[in-house]
Amino acid sequence: MNGLPQIRRFLDGFRWEDVDRLAYKHAGEAPFRDVTRQLLFASADLGCELRYFEVGPGGFSTLERHRHVHAVMILRGRGQCLVGGTIRRVAPYDLVTVPPLTWHQFRAGPDTPLGFLCMVNADRDRPELPSPDDLAALAVDPAVAAFLRGALSDS
Ligand code: MN
Repeated sequence: MNGLPQIRRFLDGFRWEDVDRLAYKHAGEAPFRDVTRQLLFASADLGCELRYFEVGPGGFSTLERHRHVHAVMILRGRGQCLVGGTIRRVAPYDLVTVPPLTWHQFRAGPDTPLGFLCMVNADRDRPELPSPDDLAALAVDPAVAAFLRGALSDS
């Protein structure tokens, strides 16, 4: 991505100039609901990508884990995230760190989108999806079980 303009203007609707809004993943590849992806920045020199994901009201990203880490900054709306065994409410400018091999999922609130920046390695391992045993282990905690069912608490 050499020779790009140095400023990509922020546009209405949480779009950026000359950036396509893409599907989050291929349909059927993994469970998710109502998520879009914009690749804002990619640099071989820096070895990273900066993406903007937006989860529509009531939507959720894939529950997954992988060796690469994420730095996530919330930019829009409200929701909750699961990182490891912990559920947290998130709001704009909160910074969420996802460590290696840690289950994670983002869910928008019922009436609001949840948009966030996610920085990630350009060269990264493929996400792993939870097995039935993994899901059962996570759901031992009733709060996590409720989160995975989409019942967002006020905690
Ligand atoms: Mn991930």
